[in-house]
Amino acid sequence: MKTIGLIGGMSWESTASYYQALNLEIKTQLGGLHSAKIALYSVNFAEIETLQRQGEWNKTADILGNAAKAVEAAGADFFLICTNTMHKVAPQVSQHVAIPLLHIADATAQQLKDNGISKVGLLGTKFTMEQAFYKERLQDNFNIEVIVPNEHDRNIIHQVIYDELCLGEIKKASRQHYLAIINKLFNEGAQAVILGCTEIALLINQNDTDVPLFDTTNIHAQKAVEYALAQ
Ligand code: GLU
Repeated sequence: MKTIGLIGGMSWESTASYYQALNLEIKTQLGGLHSAKIALYSVNFAEIETLQRQGEWNKTADILGNAAKAVEAAGADFFLICTNTMHKVAPQVSQHVAIPLLHIADATAQQLKDNGISKVGLLGTKFTMEQAFYKERLQDNFNIEVIVPNEHDRNIIHQVIYDELCLGEIKKASRQHYLAIINKLFNEGAQAVILGCTEIALLINQNDTDVPLFDTTNIHAQKAVEYALAQ
């Protein structure tokens, strides 16, 4: 079994989901007392969030690059960045290490393809929904059309992530807002919706809606186990 490097803490609420998903999948695959080999470096999210707001992405890349070096030194054979948003700096982070990065958008796109999805709605932070780094990867490398909510709805999605979910606050009213936005995307032709922020599955899951949901945290963790167990 390979050792999985995790760069987490963005937020720690979702890193806890990763830890559980990775170990559950290893248990499902291998049974008994088997558990995942993990080297986790967890950052202080307050530092990262401040730099995001200031647009100091190069500084975030340095922090995550050092974290990647630490998990490599701890024996990780490959690594995951446990947030969609911070894949904005994935190329710079990867430059710090020799081990490969398992990209969250690639894992998700592959899952969409396997399910025959060619047009998808994307929920995430405003960085993820509005900038090119995520959407273009799906569009250019996998030929998947990506649509996002309107500006008003993007603001709601973003606020709920930072002001509630990253603080561990789960509110019924926010769930209703999210579900209404998911329905709008479906009515605009999305065959499915990507939960493109690693905390969103704390708020909604497939039992809440008939619209197919693709939870990036779970997909990323499943892919990591597949990779860790591959010969
Ligand atoms: N975990 C979130 C994501 O997947 C947002 C927190 C962050 O800005 O990294 O995008």
